[in-house]
Amino acid sequence: MSECIFCKIRDGQVPAKPVHRDDVCLALEDINPQAPTHLLVIPLKHIPTVNDLTVDEREVVGHLYLTAAKLARQRGIADSGYRLVMNTHRDAGQTVFHIHLHVLGGRPMEWPPG
Ligand code: AMP
Ligand code: ZN
Repeated sequence: MSECIFCKIRDGQVPAKPVHRDDVCLALEDINPQAPTHLLVIPLKHIPTVNDLTVDEREVVGHLYLTAAKLARQRGIADSGYRLVMNTHRDAGQTVFHIHLHVLGGRPMEWPPG
């Protein structure tokens, strides 16, 4: 059995607040939101980090972005703006090693990030 929390959520072994699911990805509310809207868009396929992506998975990554944009429109933050973040390894603060796109919006955000 997978030890990965996002694989467990995908398989219904851990409860979550899903807001979207299709045949490539799922999206859910972040358990520790950093903005009024903080969603995670997660591929169904277990891919640990961006460094592990293969050319065959490029459509998966595109799908994550298109889904994020759709959810941002649904949440009413598409025009005010939002930030899409995919952390990779320690210096970026990656804590879950199953790639995911953070969708952050609903408040102004600093740039550059800390
Ligand atoms: P990262 O630090 O980029 O790996 O982001 C991991 C994110 O997953 C964090 O924002 C966590 O708050 C979030 N997270 C961890 N466990 C859960 C969970 N069970 N349900 C929803 N979000 C989670
Ligand atoms: Zn996983």
